[in-house]
Amino acid sequence: MKKKEVNSSRMPVYRDSGFELDDAKTTADAFRKETEHSREPDVYIYSRYRNPTVVSAEEEIMKIEGCEWALLTQSGMSAIDTALSVFQNGKETRPWLFFTEIYGGTISFIESVLKSRRGLDIQYFTPDNGNYDLDKFEKEISVLKPEFVYIETISNPMLIVADVANITGIAKQHGTKVIIDNTFATPWLYKPLTEGADIVIHSATKYFSGHGNITAGVICGNDNKLMQSAIEYRKFVGHTLSPDDAYRLQTQIQTFKLRFSRQCSNASKLAGYLNNNPIIKEVWFPGLKSHHTFHIAEKLFGKKGFGAMITFDFDGKDKNEKRSMRDHFIKLVSEKIKLIPTLGDPHTILMPVEAVWGTKYPEPGMIRLSVGFEEYSELESTISKALNKIKGQIKV
Ligand code: PLP
Repeated sequence: MKKKEVNSSRMPVYRDSGFELDDAKTTADAFRKETEHSREPDVYIYSRYRNPTVVSAEEEIMKIEGCEWALLTQSGMSAIDTALSVFQNGKETRPWLFFTEIYGGTISFIESVLKSRRGLDIQYFTPDNGNYDLDKFEKEISVLKPEFVYIETISNPMLIVADVANITGIAKQHGTKVIIDNTFATPWLYKPLTEGADIVIHSATKYFSGHGNITAGVICGNDNKLMQSAIEYRKFVGHTLSPDDAYRLQTQIQTFKLRFSRQCSNASKLAGYLNNNPIIKEVWFPGLKSHHTFHIAEKLFGKKGFGAMITFDFDGKDKNEKRSMRDHFIKLVSEKIKLIPTLGDPHTILMPVEAVWGTKYPEPGMIRLSVGFEEYSELESTISKALNKIKGQIKV
């Protein structure tokens, strides 16, 4: 059968690893042009370099993020590796400054790859009392003069909202680039590139794909030089997303705003409900006035929502009781709320904080919820039944 154009409204999945070229001259031209690392090549050569299905999915993300370019990678971690490696040039680099409240996998990558293997000068900036002190940040940055500063808009699991607008302003005054992992906030709540950030990263495994069935990452930006360098790095280390995953992501991302806005609304209601429950000691959710960064969240996100993650701690008389309340809760809700170590799934899922973070967050009663887009009444009913049972048992 002959290849022919089909009147499909979608970009097909081009699984070719290599693309057919006409002759030696076309090949030479294509390879010469390839060194320019343009976002969408005139002639496709090899899928590890660029693939039309992947480029098409990237264009969908560019619309959502409102940016000049987006590059898809095989995971959030490979997006992080690509984004950071762009700043490594084989010479002595200025220090790289990371806020400490970032994804544990990123910290492990920094320690094991950037520090131990690549020998880079890594510095950390720590929050005080659940918030980042920007005067302290300005002092630190003026002394260190880092190449870039790396932040997550909403941290994990305490959901600290970083004042990205002011942080970016300060960094720019000192000639420091800004890289934001915006996975938890998503462009629905906030677009750091509009405030002058240089690179935005997402684990597309989470809200962009939104169904717990794709592992992917994306780097977004507006600066063409950064893009060319990122395309080059992604191609040489083979971080490019597969066409099958790109196709599925491009489909699933069409419902991103619907899903995420509903997840945010469910989370706001649930955080209020949990906050008034007598067997819960504390709830961390940036939309609660009691959260250290409520005002920053309000400033950054307006009325759109506060994300869809909630962390709470059981109020037991000692560690043993707290641990048993947590374990009991996990068991009681397990039909509807599964323990799955990820976030952004359609249904609400949970993670026991101490079991994952260990000594960093050792409170045994703490649970992190990734709130889904199920019917809210169903979600509250599952949780309230479990809490009432636990309350009856501990006789509060
Ligand atoms: N960034 C954040 C904020 C994350 O939570 C994660 C994973 O949980 C990652 C990056 C890494 O993403 P991936 O698991 O897709 O590599």
